[in-house]
Amino acid sequence: MEIKQRSEIQRQYKWRIEDLYALEEGWQFDYDVLSARENELDKYRGRLGDASVLLECLRVKDELEEAMERLFVYANMRLHEDSRVSEYQGMADKAGNLLSKLSASAAFIEPEILALPDSRIKNMAKPGLEVYRHYLDNLARLKAHVLSPEMEELLARSYEIAEAPQNAYSMLNNADMKFAVIKDEYGKEVQITHGRYISLMESANRDVRRETFNAFYAEYIKMKNTIAALYNASVKKDIFFAKAHKFSSSIEASLAENNIPVQVYTNLIKVTEEFLPDMHRYVRLRKKILNLPELHMYDLYTPLVPEADTKVTYEDAKATVLQALTPMGAEYTRVVKSGFNSGWIDVYENEGKRSGAYSWGAYGRHPYVLMNFDNKLNDMFTIAHEMGHAMHSYYSWDAQPYVYSGHTIFTAEVASTVNEALLTEHLLKVTADDIQRRYIINHFIEQFRSTVFRQTMFAEFEMLAHQMAEQGEPLTVSSLCELYRGLNEKYYGGGIILDSQIDFEWARIPHFYNAFYVYQYATGFSAAVALSRRILREGAAAVDDYVNFLRCGSSEYSIDQLKKAGVDMSASTTVRQALSVFRGLIDKLEAAG
Ligand SMILES: [Zn+2]
Repeated sequence: MEIKQRSEIQRQYKWRIEDLYALEEGWQFDYDVLSARENELDKYRGRLGDASVLLECLRVKDELEEAMERLFVYANMRLHEDSRVSEYQGMADKAGNLLSKLSASAAFIEPEILALPDSRIKNMAKPGLEVYRHYLDNLARLKAHVLSPEMEELLARSYEIAEAPQNAYSMLNNADMKFAVIKDEYGKEVQITHGRYISLMESANRDVRRETFNAFYAEYIKMKNTIAALYNASVKKDIFFAKAHKFSSSIEASLAENNIPVQVYTNLIKVTEEFLPDMHRYVRLRKKILNLPELHMYDLYTPLVPEADTKVTYEDAKATVLQALTPMGAEYTRVVKSGFNSGWIDVYENEGKRSGAYSWGAYGRHPYVLMNFDNKLNDMFTIAHEMGHAMHSYYSWDAQPYVYSGHTIFTAEVASTVNEALLTEHLLKVTADDIQRRYIINHFIEQFRSTVFRQTMFAEFEMLAHQMAEQGEPLTVSSLCELYRGLNEKYYGGGIILDSQIDFEWARIPHFYNAFYVYQYATGFSAAVALSRRILREGAAAVDDYVNFLRCGSSEYSIDQLKKAGVDMSASTTVRQALSVFRGLIDKLEAAG
């Protein structure tokens, strides 16, 4: 089927971008105004110890950032509509440049506040400044880990050098490494790329999967010594900065940034361990359902149940999502519905449009969703997911001042996953067709596997590798491979052949150069599943707590926000509740045999 031009798409399926700027001249006007204010923050430099100056400075900074956000979002959303349009390329470029200039001009503010005596930050009072209390507390919280200005300056100058392992890995992985050409299931030659790897691994044809797996890993194994040296340097870098800033370990330093207790991390690993027998059960079921004499690592991605042929129209998908969200109450669904009807969503693919899906927007306006709806069941899940993000923004923007209008990374995927979990529950209730039911169950199981189990295994690897280095043990190809193989044995059990290539998986994960990050995918997903259960079980009271959480933005620490919503991430119960759902799904799949 030929892809349409954007002009051929009916208006009701395009987002109402004019709600950001009615006319392009408006964008240009704002751009000129903001450009002229580029150095406005300069006049506050060196004076932030005075509460009135501080308040004025923070207000001006927010005002500039808010205006900048709208310019940036509009230019880039335009570009995403059709990336071939040079006018939009130019606007996005200009917006990007202005954004970095403004960020640079505001860069002095936080170090200057941090240089003030502790008691001074805590006791600053001025009508209006109380809005910024959490912002200031959050800054002051890490003051014990801030060194003298000379030391901080020296460290700051080393950051660029410290990025070398990550940059070099990224260059190697994305630019220099080339993967082999293999034959796909139609006998057509395809070059393996990062983007194609997973879809080739999902192939129903086992030869394609095996060849892809072998050829892909062969390139990493060729580079094994270089990659081990880069990873070793990256871990050493984490340890160096943690020690320099007087943290007792690199994991503590990393989690302190968002005020997450280390216990949240270790609990996740401990509780996931309790449910590994269920993961092993799933592995054995996979072998049985795929009807294979042995299950290999390259058999992990191929769908157990092919996506049912059923076509889902956009109208039906919206109606089903709305129904699935009924437990959220009348107010929530009213807003979702009005979002559907008033141009929040850019629905269909067109020539030049950005692929995938996201939710975005600018404070003070309504949120937007970009997607490429293709009448598949999976696209219905995308609507539920992205509208979850959009509703999170909608509530936070409504309730919070600009400074707290964003979400913390730790909570980012909660709202989207709650909606997906509710959709799954709803579909399981109303779907009679056996194949479709199995597809839905498997879809949810795979989310648990890839978001909880896999990311927790990554998290455990990162923790152990950093501990090894902290205890002075060398990180070499063989010690990293041994560590990784042990983890694979633990997570997948004896029901799968651990092909030797998988020992090198650590060599192909770019996230490892941004240490102690991926565990948040697992905790966020677990929190969302537990919350969706609570909403289904307790109704209105649970919904109230949940909506209050959506309204929080970043005005409180993540762990406290989630506690208010009804899940305590520092206790084991939340992850256990979520993984019990996984256990139930495996039971269902087993029963469906
Ligand atoms: Zn998401």
